[in-house]
Amino acid sequence: MPHMQAMVLDAPGQPLRHMTRTVAEPGADQLLIRVTACGVCRTDLHIVDGDLSQPRLPLIPGHEVVGRLVRAGGAARDFSPGDRVGVPWLGTTCGRCSYCRSGQENLCDAPGFTGYTLDGGYAQYLVADRRFCFHLPSEYNDAEAAPLLCAGLIGHRSLMMAGDAQHLGLYGFGAAAHIVAQVAGYEGRRVYAFTRPGDLEGQSFARDLGAIWAGDSTSQAPRALDAAIIFAPVGALVPAALRAVRKGGTVVCAGIHMTDIPSFPYRLLWGERTVRSVANLTREDGESFLALAAKVPVRTHIQTYPLQSANQALDDLRSGKVTGAAVLTIDETGAA
Ligand SMILES: [Zn+2]
Ligand SMILES: [Zn+2]
Repeated sequence: MPHMQAMVLDAPGQPLRHMTRTVAEPGADQLLIRVTACGVCRTDLHIVDGDLSQPRLPLIPGHEVVGRLVRAGGAARDFSPGDRVGVPWLGTTCGRCSYCRSGQENLCDAPGFTGYTLDGGYAQYLVADRRFCFHLPSEYNDAEAAPLLCAGLIGHRSLMMAGDAQHLGLYGFGAAAHIVAQVAGYEGRRVYAFTRPGDLEGQSFARDLGAIWAGDSTSQAPRALDAAIIFAPVGALVPAALRAVRKGGTVVCAGIHMTDIPSFPYRLLWGERTVRSVANLTREDGESFLALAAKVPVRTHIQTYPLQSANQALDDLRSGKVTGAAVLTIDETGAA
């Protein structure tokens, strides 16, 4: 049995453990992939910290996975050995429920999520359902491509939910927002970036990426916004963003987890304002975003860590020390 290095979560609230695991055999519809890079997403933090309560345990986290196809369990179809493969959060779906049958596979009743209910990419190898894997644009190296697979995809789905908003607020300027800001600018929108109070570095990063205004999340926007996307997992930002959007405006909650939303006066929602969430992705989102990213072109700003430093990457993300996106780089010996 071939073995691999992996970072494993035994139980929420504990650091990941660096260990040797058996490489899984790919099933009929699966690909065996040698991982070269894996993004570290805020969702991974929510899993490790126990905010998301249904992980497979023990678990290999990671759902922004880039690697090379080793071999397919059955017919590989779209991929040949050696091809670069991207594996996203939506790892598999049932294909039969009412959501799957109506173009809303992101809401599937019996999904599998990479790095949550299925083992993910904090390892040298993973197996993935070939039907949910992507080809990646050649403009990006492996580490640069990794954040496109969740921060990019979910960010883009959130941007679509914001409709044709011209004046767009982004709350939380991390991995997703740094990509969305570039796409929004390409589409001719005006971006207003809200960061943690006092995060001047984050604010200047946002301006570098085209935001026409950047300030603290507690400060007032310079004008009424058409829509706002909340990436930070902070429920108090919902009433704050509602205050910032005009009549008919939309507030999109893009994260998978948020602290409780405090109660707020109805007049903040009045005037046909909308609050909505965004859940997961569809394969169609993936194909359309990856093509668009290469066209913009979106440049991902990454901070890389070797596989064994996954806990450090998670800590840095938790404490707001990552500018752009954190990415684990993985070679055949497990070190970068
Ligand atoms: Zn389904
Ligand atoms: Zn993610």
